[in-house]
Amino acid sequence: MPVEKTDTLVVGGGQAGVAMSEHLTRAGIPHIVLERYRIAERWRSERWDSLVANGPAWHDRFPGMTFGNIDPDGFAAKEDVADYFVAYAEKFGAPIRCGVEVTEVRRIDGRPGFSATTSEGMIEANNIVAATGPFQKPVIPNLFSVDPGIPQMHSSAYRNPEQLPEGAVLVIGAGSSGVQIAEELMRSGKKTYLSVGPHDRPPRAYRGRDFCWWLGVLGKWDMPAPQPGTEHVTIAVSGARGGHTVDFRQLGNQGMILLGRTEGYSDGLAKFAPDLVENLTNGDANYLSLLDEADAYVKRNGLDLPEEPQARRMAPDPDCVIRPIRELDLAAAGITSIIWATGFVTDYSWLKIDAFDGKGRPRHQRGVSVEPGVYFLGLPWQSRRGSSFIWGVWHDARHVADQIAIRRNYMEYHASKREFLEAQALAK
Ligand SMILES: Cc1cc2nc3c(=O)[nH]c(=O)nc-3n(C[C@H](O)[C@H](O)[C@H](O)COP(=O)(O)OP(=O)(O)OC[C@H]3O[C@@H](n4cnc5c(N)ncnc54)[C@H](O)[C@@H]3O)c2cc1C
Repeated sequence: MPVEKTDTLVVGGGQAGVAMSEHLTRAGIPHIVLERYRIAERWRSERWDSLVANGPAWHDRFPGMTFGNIDPDGFAAKEDVADYFVAYAEKFGAPIRCGVEVTEVRRIDGRPGFSATTSEGMIEANNIVAATGPFQKPVIPNLFSVDPGIPQMHSSAYRNPEQLPEGAVLVIGAGSSGVQIAEELMRSGKKTYLSVGPHDRPPRAYRGRDFCWWLGVLGKWDMPAPQPGTEHVTIAVSGARGGHTVDFRQLGNQGMILLGRTEGYSDGLAKFAPDLVENLTNGDANYLSLLDEADAYVKRNGLDLPEEPQARRMAPDPDCVIRPIRELDLAAAGITSIIWATGFVTDYSWLKIDAFDGKGRPRHQRGVSVEPGVYFLGLPWQSRRGSSFIWGVWHDARHVADQIAIRRNYMEYHASKREFLEAQALAK
């Protein structure tokens, strides 16, 4: 079978693959991007129907192109986000091949480079960029020792309220996915229980500016990875219905039953930690600290932004916060479905190289793997908080492309020496 050769093989054609291709193109580095489905597929088929971007259109995009006909202060629908990346890739003629899966990548024995087995044959490349996404495999924590006999799904399988059977629903996890799904279900008329863990809860907007802007000017998107041992805390935000602040107490007052972190299930009873009040209080503290920092920034820089004292008023505690539920009889509560909005892990089982720690996590520095010639892109906290998001990955891709260009220079050392000697010989 003929083997195709390229300098850099990028695996994955989501936003990370598109950004990588743009920077490699700019650097004049020959490359191929392989995507097993379609460009930005996850935005099309692995997210719920009503999902819109969490950040406004002026923010959640690459620097080189706007969303065109979408209001910059509005929130792009998930299909618009996918279409955006297709158009972006077309704009610079990204060499993306769709419908090609990479099943295995190995280092070639005895000479530099890697050999990739794909659904359309073999490719050899000097460099491999793994751009297969920060959120690949849905995670359902092993909390229930017995099956409650109720249909359960991960948030990545949820599409819309009509998909669920009649009856109440328990949503476990209250990051951006969990809280948005729970709110949609409650608004559809379903009795909705939401298990709330630790979270950050920025205001959607404050003093006329979206929180994405505040996090930018305050340098918070650039925060480096949390120290080992420090928990990553999810951010609860929503761009749904034009964007609004996630306010758990308000949801509780509208009828949602809030619960603490889910601990387990046995004898028909789901068990919840006594941490609901603590989680809400910490979320409030995070919310208020951002207002404080924003106010200080306005003052220090003499900005003319309207004051917003009402943003500090908290909704009264709903009954489920005053008297938290520690045990819930799922059958008696009429719960007929459970949605786990408990996140994802990465899966690099196709990358057969020694660049992972004992937990299967890439060992790397800002995406440059410990295995020379292998790069990662789009990892959560790859270089900063923004790394797995649309605007952040573009900047990380520039760094990775730089590193690939530097390595190429080293690898071409002998070639340039040969050219020099040949030129000398010709001059004689
Ligand atoms: C529910 C949800 C909402 C989000 N909302 C926002 C938001 O509003 N704003 C924002 O900035 N970020 C958001 N994110 C975060 C992030 O932008 C997305 O997760 C985004 O999809 C990550 O892009 P990516 O290119 O790194 O990975 P992915 O989109 O996962 O792309 C990786 C691609 O690789 C392909 N692939 C995987 N394995 C192989 C293989 N072996 N061979 C070939 N191809 C392969 C996949 O098919 C996929 O298309 C959201 C994430 C989630 C889960």
